Amino acid sequence: MVSARESVAELPLARFLARCHAEFATDHSGEVATYIPELARANPSDFGIAVTTVDGFVYEIGDSAVPFTIQSISKAFVFALALDLVGHDRVEAVVGVEPSGDPFNSIRLGADNRPFNAMVNAGAITCTGLLCESEGGGASARLTDALGRFAGRRLGVDEATFESERATGDRNRAIAYLLRTHGVLKGDVDTVLDVYFRQCAVSVTARDLSVMAATLANKGINPLTGEQVASSYAVARTLSVMTSSGMYDSAGRWVYRVGIPAKSGVAGGILASLPSQLGLGTYSPRIDDQGNSVRGLRACEALSSHFGLHMLNSGGDVRTCIAASYDVGSVCSRRSRRPQELAILEAHHAECIVLELAGALSFANVEYVSRRIRSLQPQLSYLVIDFRRVSSISEAAAHLLAGALDDLVARRVEVVFSGVAKGTPLEASLSGWLGGKHGVRVIAALDEAIEWAEDRIIQRQDGHLDFQKPTLLAEQQLLTGLSQDELSSLADLMATRNYAAGDRMIESGDPAASLLFVGSGLVSVRLPSGVRLATLSAGMAVGEMALLETHRSADVWADTQVTCLELSLKDFTGFRERHPRAGERVMANLARLLSKRLIVANNKIEALASY
Ligand code: GLU
Repeated sequence: MVSARESVAELPLARFLARCHAEFATDHSGEVATYIPELARANPSDFGIAVTTVDGFVYEIGDSAVPFTIQSISKAFVFALALDLVGHDRVEAVVGVEPSGDPFNSIRLGADNRPFNAMVNAGAITCTGLLCESEGGGASARLTDALGRFAGRRLGVDEATFESERATGDRNRAIAYLLRTHGVLKGDVDTVLDVYFRQCAVSVTARDLSVMAATLANKGINPLTGEQVASSYAVARTLSVMTSSGMYDSAGRWVYRVGIPAKSGVAGGILASLPSQLGLGTYSPRIDDQGNSVRGLRACEALSSHFGLHMLNSGGDVRTCIAASYDVGSVCSRRSRRPQELAILEAHHAECIVLELAGALSFANVEYVSRRIRSLQPQLSYLVIDFRRVSSISEAAAHLLAGALDDLVARRVEVVFSGVAKGTPLEASLSGWLGGKHGVRVIAALDEAIEWAEDRIIQRQDGHLDFQKPTLLAEQQLLTGLSQDELSSLADLMATRNYAAGDRMIESGDPAASLLFVGSGLVSVRLPSGVRLATLSAGMAVGEMALLETHRSADVWADTQVTCLELSLKDFTGFRERHPRAGERVMANLARLLSKRLIVANNKIEALASY
């Protein structure tokens, strides 16, 4: 048997990463950082790579579990935390967003005496200072806790590295005093620097970095824990600054060649985050003159060029966001309709269109959807938009959708949303429309939304949906063509059954010993999971499969008060012997009904599959 580990190793991406690892492990260029004495103790041959996908699958190659200190990579997360905790106005007032072109530890501020950006020491110390102001003595714990939430586990601090940097960090002290001179940093320099040195000494692995990167790539939601760790505003701003300034003074070359927002640290870690795709974490302590891990850089470059992952290289067919589009003539609801209702729907099915949307709805997708909506036929009265397969909707997409909906309201089209699951981020993005606002109706299940629109079409054409009106036995579809005599001898064998709304009339798994002719009311056939297979009304039979099967295959529930006539299989067998012609007729009717059902089902499959 193939073990889980072996089968992961066989995945195409795992094989690619293993090849990169084997090739770049032979590169011994670069030096382990020594300016923080404790860092010099790192094993120069350590090399780990990890990739975490945005749905939370982790690939690990080599020394991906070896701990090292996060160093400058913490700057990205502290910036995001500061944006969320103290507000972007305050952060953006004291830290710029321009690349400096200087080394990370440069003692130089911008012309306005603000640090250039939050990825160089001056900007990072400023952000840490802001957090100290807002969190007081709890700043360090808060910060370590936040980094752990990004990583999906509690992280600790490497005390030896912390002490080592604290004892030798005079350059950072010089930066902090300069910041204080200009009023950018408030509070006690040593207190702020202790928090800063501690954040740099948080111990992580390449695997942790990949999960942290995937959390950034996933709009701040950790794909392993599902926790929203940072706001999407903070994440987008952080990724922006990482793009322009994350890789020390080789940031321009990095964007040009790799094109993935990234941040590196002098201990040898690199974190790269490609929005909506993946998070990459690498560890190899030999760094180049700019302070970037040599092997880590090569791994990032290889991954980007091999798979064409440059962020400006993205594209896609916007049309795939419409998973299916049809009118209720080709895909009807699971409500079985009576002949007069069917006739109305046949003539008016084009009045209701269903658009099943899918994926992450962006500006480009919904712009396309808006054109599709605009081109819908003039007789359109109902539009059902299904969101079951939609993972998210961007602000721009929501604006465009709002515009399209306004247009529909002006055309007197009634709009129904279905498939918006409760408590999801999607529900939050659509909340402006939920609760009946802007004339949008919300119906949980797509099938029920289609049924609602069909009902409206039928009612508008004066078709009555009075399902409590009793039906004659002669109107039963299964008994079509039987003579009066045959019907009355059959009626003698039947017993009246009354059910209240909510009663279970038939239970799945029970022996199939009778069939029920619905005289009035609505009944639903459901799988034990609750999924609705059909809703039937007067003139239709349930449990009719007893004529072919030995056991019930689904539950049947009374949706309203229901009256039925029950015919036992035993009595029907006796009736068939006495009235062979009528018996044959009933079986032929059953065959016709089943064949119609099959045709409808095939049409539905075709309509959905042709997309
Ligand atoms: N703690 C280090 C410093 O401030 C971080 C440097 C880095 O990783 O770039 O010097």
